[in-house]
Amino acid sequence: MALIVHKYGGTSMGSTERIKNVAKRVAKWHDAGHQIVVVPSAMSGETNRIIGLAKEIMAQPDPRELDMIASTGEQVSVGLLSMALQAIGKQAVSYAGWQVAIKTDSAYTKARIASIDDTKVRADLDAGKIVIITGFQGVDDAGNITTLGRGGSDTSAVAVAAALKAQECLIYTDVDGVYTTDPRVVSDARRLKTVTFEEMLEMASLGSKVLQIRSVEFAGNYRMPTRVLSSLTDPMIPLEEEANSGTLISFEEDTHMEQATITGIAFNRDEAKITVFGVPDKPGIAYQILGPIADANIEVDMIIQNQSVDGKTDFTFTVPRGEYTKAMQVLEASVKEHISTGNIIGDPKVSKVSVVGVGMRSHVGIASQMFRTLADESVNIQMISTSEIKISVLIDEKYMELAVRSLHKAFGLESA
Ligand code: ADP
Ligand code: ASP
Ligand code: MG
Repeated sequence: MALIVHKYGGTSMGSTERIKNVAKRVAKWHDAGHQIVVVPSAMSGETNRIIGLAKEIMAQPDPRELDMIASTGEQVSVGLLSMALQAIGKQAVSYAGWQVAIKTDSAYTKARIASIDDTKVRADLDAGKIVIITGFQGVDDAGNITTLGRGGSDTSAVAVAAALKAQECLIYTDVDGVYTTDPRVVSDARRLKTVTFEEMLEMASLGSKVLQIRSVEFAGNYRMPTRVLSSLTDPMIPLEEEANSGTLISFEEDTHMEQATITGIAFNRDEAKITVFGVPDKPGIAYQILGPIADANIEVDMIIQNQSVDGKTDFTFTVPRGEYTKAMQVLEASVKEHISTGNIIGDPKVSKVSVVGVGMRSHVGIASQMFRTLADESVNIQMISTSEIKISVLIDEKYMELAVRSLHKAFGLESA
């Protein structure tokens, strides 16, 4: 008998029919003698719908109030799933984040989990109940409801699994594992049987939204075995088969010794580029430009400072597209008055494409192969950033899918 955490995403919870299937699957695991905690997301489209309502009232809604409503989709899900389990004769109990409690900091819309109290959950499990906990939401020390950022139910699930010292965290979703790239963009992408924690972290941080990055961080910090698998199979398939399906995140360093140099291609459509022209090239200039951006809680990703000409230089950086307008406002309001600059020009229609693989460490020539492939397709590279296990380029968003497809092919990632 093991304690196992299941997470079901929005599509998996997308209708009452699907919720009944989730209940059957969960009951199958419980019948096999396991203790089961389930962390569902809101039904698909629900979080977007609710946030849309807020934006009809206020263009930039107050974050506390936004979390108050954005968190409600998950509350509907846990109640419905609990009922679906009860309807097939199972004892089940649902909890909102604050009832558990899942404690977070107070950074509304992107809160971080600080602690999880396992007392109630353990008592329920010991009493033979299936416990269902809302994904995505928590509560801060003052009792305010918070949310963990889009896709945050993954993080709730892995954090709950870590707090309960579960044997495994199973992330059920609408694809049957982690692929070499998003299978919706490249139809012959290949499913990976295992992916190293490091690679998954890199893929998630570079835009592969199959797992929220913080869930991968939790998995790594607590060495929580985490598997991505399909919720769309027949719920009654043999448990053994299901338990070995999908993609397991591995913590072994050397599983990839024999493997391809490149593991996958990640992309992020959600980028915007800003260039500040003609700034004086002197100590402190990066801080004077990026300090106010950081103070406004905007994350900066890629940065380039050009070689200076006549003591002046150009400074370019990228921010999440959703923060673009705010970043431009910050520059106009707090930077221009302190340093003399030329024009500030932005482009919110750029995308980042990255090749990822721990095998890159021992291979040279990956960058040149990447650049040649893009050149052959006449895709202009605007910015480049590298680390030991990834190379990212910023390009015009209209070439994003072309770039992903041609790189996927150039690195031989397609399924056999
Ligand atoms: P859920 O609602 O279950 O959390 P998400 O939509 O958040 O599901 O994540 C699953 C989606 O992630 C898939 O439908 C797929 O389009 C996308 N995706 C992006 N990159 C990858 C990848 N490398 N492997 C698998 N899926 C990916
Ligand atoms: N419902 C939330 C969202 O849409 C959390 C999640 O799905 O993981 O972002
Ligand atoms: Mg998700």
